[in-house]
Amino acid sequence: KKNPKPKPEWMKMVVPGGDKYASIKSKLRELKLNTVCEEARCPNIGECWTGGETGTATATIMILGDTCTRGCRFCAVKTSRAPPPADPEEPLRVAEAIVAWGLDYVVLTSVDRDDMPDQGSAHFAETVKNLKERKPTMLVEALVPDFRGDPACVERVATSGLDVFAHNIETVEELQSSVRDRRANFKQSLDVLRMAKKFAPPGTLTKTSIMLGCGETPAQVVKAMKSVRAAGVDVMTLGQYMRPTKRHMPVSEFVTPEAFEEYRKLGVELGFRYVASGPMVRSSYKAGEYFIKSMID
Ligand code: SF4
Ligand code: SF4
Repeated sequence: KKNPKPKPEWMKMVVPGGDKYASIKSKLRELKLNTVCEEARCPNIGECWTGGETGTATATIMILGDTCTRGCRFCAVKTSRAPPPADPEEPLRVAEAIVAWGLDYVVLTSVDRDDMPDQGSAHFAETVKNLKERKPTMLVEALVPDFRGDPACVERVATSGLDVFAHNIETVEELQSSVRDRRANFKQSLDVLRMAKKFAPPGTLTKTSIMLGCGETPAQVVKAMKSVRAAGVDVMTLGQYMRPTKRHMPVSEFVTPEAFEEYRKLGVELGFRYVASGPMVRSSYKAGEYFIKSMID
């Protein structure tokens, strides 16, 4: 199947720039950190790494390797049933590098590790603890797998000292099995978010994201937003799905900026702490800037 239309005007890439961007970029070379921002050639680097109006520089770091045990139809990450073992030194090495890099807000994320007895949850928790010990003012978000709904794994991460517990539902309930790996589903993901809210200390935010342009209807998006809110989720982001290669699921439509704005307004009405919604929005889009603004508002 082909993508239905060429990319509309509003999907054109923005070229990153500015002094803060240049200095962050040059420091990164020495630190051997895997940023999702660079690997995914994310168009938002310029905005995220400089921190926008609040100067809260944000980046997303990948831990637990580059090989996933799952295969979602929208994702370009490579897949294997038995990925190389996780590096036990990683939680310390990555935390030290992130602190040296000089970020204000870091998103830690990973591939799914169904092969590990704890699904990689201890690796997340240790990285967060190491970060907070070395730089307590740094804001830390963990964007985690569903851990197959295992409460012990969710609790381990939710009580690690993080500021934001994020897990993505990716798409509306009706399209889960055609978009995500068969081991993932809507209910399990909502349960993870609900458990995280219960286990985490008061004040910890929970967060989720969906991609539009996977074949969903507006009514299904609204329903998903309401379900997420009912699960106590504080923050939601909505962005446009982009097909990584021709072997991946096609884009069903390019949702207009106006439609994204309607979803944002609805999200605010539903009581989300903040909502980022737009064609270029990714789950981690300007996360630091939004976080700080939501604390001021
Ligand atoms: Fe990609 Fe995550 Fe799905 Fe793995 S679980 S294939 S990393 S989206
Ligand atoms: Fe990095 Fe996420 Fe910002 Fe893209 S949206 S630059 S991946 S932090």
